[in-house]
Amino acid sequence: MTQDGLGMHVVFTGAPGCGKGTQARLLKERVAIPHLSTGEMLRAEAATGSALGSEIKALIDGGNLVPDDMIIKMLSKRIDADDCKKGFILDGFPRTLPQAEVLEEMLSKKGITLNAVIEIQVPDEIIMERILGRYACMTCGQGYHDKYQKPKVYGVCDNCGGTDFYRRIDDNRSTVQNRLVNYRALTYPTIPYFESKGLLRTVDGTGSIAAVAKKIDDILAVG
Ligand code: AMP
Repeated sequence: MTQDGLGMHVVFTGAPGCGKGTQARLLKERVAIPHLSTGEMLRAEAATGSALGSEIKALIDGGNLVPDDMIIKMLSKRIDADDCKKGFILDGFPRTLPQAEVLEEMLSKKGITLNAVIEIQVPDEIIMERILGRYACMTCGQGYHDKYQKPKVYGVCDNCGGTDFYRRIDDNRSTVQNRLVNYRALTYPTIPYFESKGLLRTVDGTGSIAAVAKKIDDILAVG
């Protein structure tokens, strides 16, 4: 994949639980550009307990999207930071058509073009099982799964040795169902939009984490 001299700018998209966060984190290790997860930014704001944070928390916990203007403001500030000068990996943004249009406008003002929008496709039945079983290390954020990715030593994080783990509050069956409904209604329309721009690359996300990462490397010509 050619770059424009301003670095690599990639979007990861797909339904909740498709593995976009996992793949974005792995790609970040390989290409040394920041991984910008709007979900993580929002969870950090929610954790402050501010009035804005409480508003955000209620939306996330119900499986609903936060308003476009709020997230756009947050993201545009973040991509202006110095560490984004060589590019970034967007995970969870854009999630609506207006967000996609604003992103394009923001980047074109900076003379940046997106390299690719990578859609990771996973069927709904698999998504539910993946999300309901997933948890992460409280210290380093390393992800695990009750069935598919257990720590080597029970109760101890492979990555940092941490012994405290957490599950996201929005990773429960009814909230995931609502997140899937919102994905189809609000986020899915961005797929044909990016396809019409010649940016869409679709990856089958049902293989192993390493197999999916390999497909992404091939698309981005990383390696
Ligand atoms: P994620 O970590 O990507 O699964 O996002 C968790 C939650 O954060 C979502 O279910 C939304 O409530 C919210 N969120 C994350 N990114 C966005 C976005 N770009 N627009 C609106 N809401 C978002």
